[in-house]
Amino acid sequence: MSDLPVPTVGDEAGWVREHLGALLVDEVRPSSIRGGQTLADAALAAFDVAGYANRRNEVWPVAARGASRLSPYIRHGLLTLPRVWRDVRGPSADVAKFRDELLWQEYARHLYFRVGLEMGRSLRFSVLERGAPAPERAGWPDDMACVALVTRELRDEGWLPNQARMWLASHWSVRGGRGWRDGEDLMFRHLLDGSRAANRVGWQWTVGALTGKPYGFSRQQVERRAPGVCGTCALKSQCPIQQWPDDHEPEPRPMADPRLRRGTVEPTAAEGGIPDQVWITAESLGDDDPALRAYPHLPAVFVWDAPLLARLRLSSVRLVFLAECLADLSTRRELEVRVGEPTVELAGRRLAATDAPVPGWRSRAAAVGPVAVEEWPWLVPPHGGPVTSFTAWRRSARI
Ligand SMILES: Cc1cc2nc3c(=O)[nH]c(=O)nc-3n(C[C@H](O)[C@H](O)[C@H](O)COP(=O)(O)OP(=O)(O)OC[C@H]3O[C@@H](n4cnc5c(N)ncnc54)[C@H](O)[C@@H]3O)c2cc1C
Repeated sequence: MSDLPVPTVGDEAGWVREHLGALLVDEVRPSSIRGGQTLADAALAAFDVAGYANRRNEVWPVAARGASRLSPYIRHGLLTLPRVWRDVRGPSADVAKFRDELLWQEYARHLYFRVGLEMGRSLRFSVLERGAPAPERAGWPDDMACVALVTRELRDEGWLPNQARMWLASHWSVRGGRGWRDGEDLMFRHLLDGSRAANRVGWQWTVGALTGKPYGFSRQQVERRAPGVCGTCALKSQCPIQQWPDDHEPEPRPMADPRLRRGTVEPTAAEGGIPDQVWITAESLGDDDPALRAYPHLPAVFVWDAPLLARLRLSSVRLVFLAECLADLSTRRELEVRVGEPTVELAGRRLAATDAPVPGWRSRAAAVGPVAVEEWPWLVPPHGGPVTSFTAWRRSARI
């Protein structure tokens, strides 16, 4: 479609408004979590892991939280998992718990790498999914103070602590009986860290597809993790989540796919030759991107994937975050920015790229044919053993 000017630091929201107007679904605004390598480095340096194990599930007040809020940077490759694993230091119990969570992220990536789009299949809710998607406010009603508190943060900031994501997922599906795929899509649209890998694992975990035990959201968790919120609720004396939700049979594992038990995925093959540009995508926008590192003097190219974005309908906080990453990168690298269908925009170029473990990148790469492909910076190298559960995957990886 076209070549765009590069976003400049400080005017990213204006840039998104001007150049991505056709893809916008809401009023353009930034999150308080700002994008870019510079800010990612600062956030990692400032994170104090002490108390993480006890406070990672706190939701409210904000000052009580122990979560790092590093996920948007991890999601977009500004902070690789090996780097975060190495750099976070502190009390051993907190570091151990934090590293466990990094492994959950890694597990989600391996699972998605192995089975790809099949991971989004759902058996139990497939009938509901054939109907129109449930409207957001019916699934997450505004008159419950706890739900309103966290959906407001999700919409405004594009981020939530893990506990609040579980509340919303559980309220949507376990209590509300709505298809988890619809809820997952809606949450994904808002999240700065939205990834099909981790979001699907999170939703499947909540509905019990990964553990056999659905997570029930009730008033008790709100009183414990967000003390004081129930007192402000118009429904405090007729709380709709006073009791544990009715017993809900866990959703069966969505796939009887033999690849869950055993399988390997071939790395993306390079066409061979000398590249003259590095193709970067939202999977990996940081200075540690292996292809950027391997070719430090080459310019980079980024394509806003217009057909994909039109389908996904992402919130503008995510688009501004990505523009912030590009603006920051352009202070250190020559950068070309385009919008359109990536395989068309990049046709005929001699590109270097990093092998992102997601089906969307791999199918586009097959059409684009990078001449050089660098390996994805795994925290745990892929193994051919089971990815049926976090525990089975971890055991096979011997960690
Ligand atoms: C319904 C639901 C949807 C989710 N969707 C996403 C998503 O789209 N993208 C995403 O990155 N995470 C997702 N998660 C996982 C988790 O909630 C977020 O990674 C975490 O809340 C991010 O905040 P943080 O960086 O402060 O995490 P911290 O607690 O500080 O953890 C550090 C890092 O560990 C990883 N991590 C922590 N918890 C988990 C977890 N349960 N699963 C996978 N990785 C984890 C993340 O990379 C995170 O940045 C989801 C969880 C649920 C229950």
